[in-house]
Amino acid sequence: MTTPVAPHVSPSESVLQSVYEAAGRLRTSPEVVDLLRTSWREVRAQIPVRMESKRLQIFEGYRVQHNGARGPYKGGVRFHPKADLDEVRALAMLMTYKCALMDLPFGGAKGGVMCDPLHMSETELNRLTRSYTQHIGMILGISRDIPAPDMGTNAQTMAWMMDAYGQKYGYTPGIVTGKPVELGGSHGRDQATGRGVAVCMREYAAIEKANPRDLKVVVQGYGNVGSWTARLASEMGFTVVAVSDIKGGICNMEGLDIAALDRWFSVAGSVTGFEPAEPVTNEQLLEIPCDYLVPAALGEVITGENAANIRARVVVEAANHPVTPSGDEVLAKRKIPVLPDVLVNAGGVTVSYFEWTQNIQQFRWPLETVITELEKRMVATFHELMGRSARDGTSPRQAAFDISVERVAKAILLRGFV
Ligand code: NAD
Repeated sequence: MTTPVAPHVSPSESVLQSVYEAAGRLRTSPEVVDLLRTSWREVRAQIPVRMESKRLQIFEGYRVQHNGARGPYKGGVRFHPKADLDEVRALAMLMTYKCALMDLPFGGAKGGVMCDPLHMSETELNRLTRSYTQHIGMILGISRDIPAPDMGTNAQTMAWMMDAYGQKYGYTPGIVTGKPVELGGSHGRDQATGRGVAVCMREYAAIEKANPRDLKVVVQGYGNVGSWTARLASEMGFTVVAVSDIKGGICNMEGLDIAALDRWFSVAGSVTGFEPAEPVTNEQLLEIPCDYLVPAALGEVITGENAANIRARVVVEAANHPVTPSGDEVLAKRKIPVLPDVLVNAGGVTVSYFEWTQNIQQFRWPLETVITELEKRMVATFHELMGRSARDGTSPRQAAFDISVERVAKAILLRGFV
């Protein structure tokens, strides 16, 4: 008998589903829920770029500011062909709850441009970034909205954004986080998200009283988040057995040598072809028997259709929204716990917060301080969430939304938004 598949819901509907459920459990005022249903502000802009071919290409870009009750808006900028308004809106909502869960003094925002950065030259990306910054610059500010990198963007993109913003408004390094260290970026920002993911796995293993050496880990995606997760998990003793990128995956059930893989990747530009390992597709990779499965690439990769085939004991959401609500339902029925994205990948925004405070104080922390402070916050929030989940008999995702919706609702009421 096959499991009935729930109808597909859009990314923002699925975040809202978690918020409504939390609001029901918390008896949140309907007026507050009404406010959280939509974004505070959504800017949709035409982004004209003169391509190398001399042709003028018009891209579509967005900046969505979901809720700023707890502080300035904060969230990454995604360059991806599928970065449409609904996806950006959902990611902005997630940022509101992620910042609240980590108790950072920020609201939630997200930006995106529908483009394919893999098929654009450096000059075209530079022009696109400057044009995008020019079109959304009026709603940014160090006490208003502070962008950061996300899929398809990186420290170089942030350097261009900072420069474009500075040309119009004056030198303002704190306007973006995730900048190169040479321009005021924080030490450790590049590894921050992956470190947070690895810390969550280490803490979960401790709850399970398991030795990381006995745990097999599969990671989908070998970009910023996936590669740092694999590297740091392997340093913590986990056995990373499979990884992938957009071109495909590799698997060695004895464990991959991540240092050797990094050397391979720096030359080949892909994990594919690395030996000793067997090639696997991204679909097969998700179904490899393992202890911890870490989707660290795209959203919506575990759905009502394939969740029945997952053979991991635990799913660790390093990407944003990698498990759809129907996927979640199937995993819950199969008693496979899901550590939610709002916790697992919050290391990035946490170090972005450290970067912002360092920029405001014109001071730089050494790497060791960044790592110590990040670990402290990740460990504390992990245990707060797991404690709440155990106390209330809720899933880790429900506990995460209970804690964060409660905090956001409180700030909304205190500020008199409703
Ligand atoms: P990235 O662009 O650095 O890397 C993305 C990786 O995914 C690459 O290895 C790419 O090859 C792979 N990929 C792309 N399309 C794929 C496909 N169809 N199948 C399999 N793999 C594919 O992006 P990132 O910054 O590592 O972000 C990854 C995820 O983590 C995203 O969901 C992002 O929102 C989330 N996230 C990132 C950060 C951060 O600090 N970078 C913070 C929080 C959440």
